[in-house]
Amino acid sequence: MKVEPFAPDLRGTHHVVLGIQPGGDTLVGQEISISAGVRRGCCVLGRNTTARPNMASATAHAPASVSSSELRAALLRIANPDRVLTRSIERIAFAADASFYRLVPQAVVLAKGAEEIQALFRLSHERRIPLTFRAAGTSLSGQAITEGILVEVARFWRGVKVEDGGKKVRVQPGVIGGHVNQLLRPYGVKLGPDPASINACMMGGILSNNSSGMCCGVAQNAYHTLDSLKFVLPSGTMVDTADPKADEMFRAREPRLAQGILELKAEIFANPQLCERIRAKYRMKNTTGYSLNAFVDFERPIDIFQHALIGSEGTLAFLAEAVLNTVPDLPVKYTGLLLFPDLYAACAAIVPLRDAGAKALELMDRASLRSVEDQPGIPPSIKNLPLPAAGLLAEFQSANVSDRAQLENQASDAVQGLKLLEPAVFTHDPGEQALLWRIRQGTFPSVGAVRKSGTTVIIEDVAFPVERLADATIDLTKLFAKHGYDNGIIFGHAKDGNLHFVITQSFNDQAAIDQYARFLDDVVHLVVERYDGALKAEHGTGRNMAPFVEKEWGAQAYRIMKRLKELADPENLLNPGVIINPDPKSHLQNLKPTPSVEEEVDKCIECGYCEVKCPSHDLTTTPRQRIVLRREMARLRSERGNAVLLTELESGYSYAGLDTCAVDGLCATACPVGIDTGQLTKRLRRLGHSAGAQKMARRIAGNFGAVEHAIHFGLRMGHAVQSVFGADAMAGITRVMRLIGGKGIPQWTADMPRSAKRRPATERAGARAVYFPSCIARVMGTLPNEPADISAMEAFVTVASRAGVPVFIPEDVEGNCCGVPFSSKGYDEGHDLAVNRTIERFWEWSEGGRLPVMVDTSPCTYGLVNCRAALSPENQKKFDVLKILDGVAFVHDDVLPKLTIHRKAESVALHPVCSVVKMNLSAKLEKIAQACSDTVVVPMSAGCCGFAGDRGFLFPELTESATRREAAELQAAVHDGYFSSSRTCEIGMTRATGHVYRSFLFLLEQATRQ
Ligand SMILES: Cc1cc2nc3c(=O)[nH]c(=O)nc-3n(C[C@H](O)[C@H](O)[C@H](O)COP(=O)(O)OP(=O)(O)OC[C@H]3O[C@@H](n4cnc5c(N)ncnc54)[C@H](O)[C@@H]3O)c2cc1C
Ligand code: SF4
Ligand code: SF4
Repeated sequence: MKVEPFAPDLRGTHHVVLGIQPGGDTLVGQEISISAGVRRGCCVLGRNTTARPNMASATAHAPASVSSSELRAALLRIANPDRVLTRSIERIAFAADASFYRLVPQAVVLAKGAEEIQALFRLSHERRIPLTFRAAGTSLSGQAITEGILVEVARFWRGVKVEDGGKKVRVQPGVIGGHVNQLLRPYGVKLGPDPASINACMMGGILSNNSSGMCCGVAQNAYHTLDSLKFVLPSGTMVDTADPKADEMFRAREPRLAQGILELKAEIFANPQLCERIRAKYRMKNTTGYSLNAFVDFERPIDIFQHALIGSEGTLAFLAEAVLNTVPDLPVKYTGLLLFPDLYAACAAIVPLRDAGAKALELMDRASLRSVEDQPGIPPSIKNLPLPAAGLLAEFQSANVSDRAQLENQASDAVQGLKLLEPAVFTHDPGEQALLWRIRQGTFPSVGAVRKSGTTVIIEDVAFPVERLADATIDLTKLFAKHGYDNGIIFGHAKDGNLHFVITQSFNDQAAIDQYARFLDDVVHLVVERYDGALKAEHGTGRNMAPFVEKEWGAQAYRIMKRLKELADPENLLNPGVIINPDPKSHLQNLKPTPSVEEEVDKCIECGYCEVKCPSHDLTTTPRQRIVLRREMARLRSERGNAVLLTELESGYSYAGLDTCAVDGLCATACPVGIDTGQLTKRLRRLGHSAGAQKMARRIAGNFGAVEHAIHFGLRMGHAVQSVFGADAMAGITRVMRLIGGKGIPQWTADMPRSAKRRPATERAGARAVYFPSCIARVMGTLPNEPADISAMEAFVTVASRAGVPVFIPEDVEGNCCGVPFSSKGYDEGHDLAVNRTIERFWEWSEGGRLPVMVDTSPCTYGLVNCRAALSPENQKKFDVLKILDGVAFVHDDVLPKLTIHRKAESVALHPVCSVVKMNLSAKLEKIAQACSDTVVVPMSAGCCGFAGDRGFLFPELTESATRREAAELQAAVHDGYFSSSRTCEIGMTRATGHVYRSFLFLLEQATRQ
């Protein structure tokens, strides 16, 4: 697959993306094969049949019985074995989307190419097994799960191409919406649909759910910004609607469907009331049922059908590719949080603000505001608001900085006459704006985070006529009180009358399920009968509202929807039970049990935001899947169900959940409730260690100097053996050692670094900082093909001295460690000993905190700046005084400004390691690189390399899988240098790309040489 930079002529930092064949018309999804050897352990097939009322039992369309071995054999005729997942652990990992429903698929296929989709449709019909597509699985209404075959259309469907100078964008279903926007940014445009989940969800889901968000309203949703679509029908017919002959072909190949569509259109137009009702309902946001507006808005069957596919939740056809019209990106923002005495006053402000041009108007009831009032940075006045108060977050936007004054005028005119609790304050400051948005975006997770263990968080999504929004909000609040939802909150996109309400709910017993059923009946009554609103404004009907589609739309419209489904999918095998479901209680079936598991992950709402960040995503499991599996194991244990399955999950989890977790914690950076699944992994690893092993680790930590010598020796010996007998000999020796001693022994590879040179001599007198080279920097030297003139330590000392900020390396630095090698493996005692000793040394070396301590390896810095809890009370006091800095921060803030750049590279590539991301240092690393190079490339898929100190040595397949995409992107061009800030990650990236990655300090040293 070829990769092209999206803006090769841009100077400065830019990001590249997996692209398409340059100049070609056809998109090519990235071809990635899943590492064989991952799937291990015995294969205990068969469905999870532990009985439980209403839980994960039958769908509306029960799958036909076909044995699991038959099914697997049939699927293997379609896809390679590494893309057909039938082990229980794999199927259960895919049993959840972000909704509160759960279905275990019989198989998961990681599909590749439209031909495979056609073959899967054939199989589904031959064996009568339902089929459901899944992109990122962030759906909230239960539409991305199945008991049949789950077809994942994410990892091999990531093609994206900007067309027509940015006016259009061509996307495949597996590309993340946020990535598309990153690509579009240089053109000053973005996607119309703007769901809050845009950095996790994918185009297949955005189109199929007709997702929208804070600004897009109705006008900029996928339906209205669709240009053309390539789709595959359950019959196997594939159509590209961009083809001028598409309608002709559609009518010829699918006469029944095309004719049926025209008949439905005629039926609608024969009833002017229905026609008008459809028009009226789509002036508001509405994703209940199929997009009936397609019949009113278009004439030709192909145009009607392609628009009906938007929002069809994967029940009518497979969407293989879409071209969307982009909308202007408006980067200049003017934002304010307006506080009102009550909801009526807030809602009365919506129309004047909207008419004045506000692009976002987010309503928050008092409970929403209360849910975030204790979060850092939230204005204290929020705490003292009166009980009925409400907030409106208003944002005015423009494309040009020159419009700032105009935005100010618009805002100040609009707030005149509003009934406010405090004078309106708007801001242009991005930091203050981010804080205001944090208030709004924090509401949903804050409820999730404080809910009782064992309960689910439910977010509903309704729309009301804007002019009746205040009454509707108050009525909803009354329903909370009536049904005992004390912590319910209401917020939403007020500009479009779209409200979300969040409640927490247990589904652990029948009484709780009944409570939810009664509540939902009342909600349906309220929304439909009292307000004639929409039961789903943007999240899709799914299983959740399927029983109520007819109630909202009426008998005739519902019949038309059913007929559309029959025409496209006559066998009802494509995502059955979603949108159209004859069972009036289907919304109460297959409810997701949420047993309490481990404290670290109990708050998980299974939203899937973390998945994209996880280095083991394509290899074994994601953070969400790890949690889903832990919950399933907990459930099986507590219910004493299926012991065989439990044993299989436990044994499979050891590799899929534990060994291949890099404990980098990147998942926490995306998690709305702040879960770092790596913390759980560490604890589980810790629990797996005997007291003897902990003691041994402690002993090692106490003699770390000896360990350093041993590693020096091992690397020297390894290279000596390799130079005489070849790389294969050393690899063979370690392979045998691993067979005997287990996977704890690192696998030797030809790219092992050499033993590091001795550290350079430095002067304590006059030093402006203590330089603490990490143990990795102290022992690991150059990689094969890496220049060996100076070491990274020498580079640091040299640039610091050139800048007139000399640093000194303490003479007794050896034997001191950041503790990360111990904590990452769950050796707490070793970790605690290591960090306590190192902090004591820092105290001495820094003369009681007078000098800052600078660490050259970012993961080690991160470990040290976060070690406080492991310190003795005395060392905590020292820690609080110490200033521990990462090399990136120190160089950016104190060294770079005092240096003269003498030569610049043309282009360099950066790999910001996880700890740099977590410490918010990526921008500083980029700035350093920009000072030294005309062009700086940070691949868009740069993420955790999975090396994680030693995982890359112990489980090389993790690094191989984690780096595949980033490496593919980097093939687009050759750069003058490849840089990072952690030696082990550099080894991983060197392995992945074939280019030697080095410390950024070398780049700076070269650029500042006279
Ligand atoms: C915390 C949170 C916040 C959210 N905020 C919003 C929001 O602001 N606005 C909003 O609209 N939604 C929101 N959502 C819901 C969800 O993220 C969106 O609907 C999203 O677009 C779903 O995309 P996905 O990639 O996860 O799709 P999935 O969940 O994987 O799939 C969605 C549907 O599309 C179908 N599908 C997927 N790919 C294809 C294909 N190629 N062909 C045919 N069918 C396909 C699936 O079968 C399924 O029915 C939120 C979800 C969460 C968890
Ligand atoms: S710590 Fe890293 S590897 Fe582990 S679950 Fe989180 S993102 Fe995945
Ligand atoms: S860990 Fe966090 S981001 Fe991941 S699924 Fe759970 S709540 Fe969502």
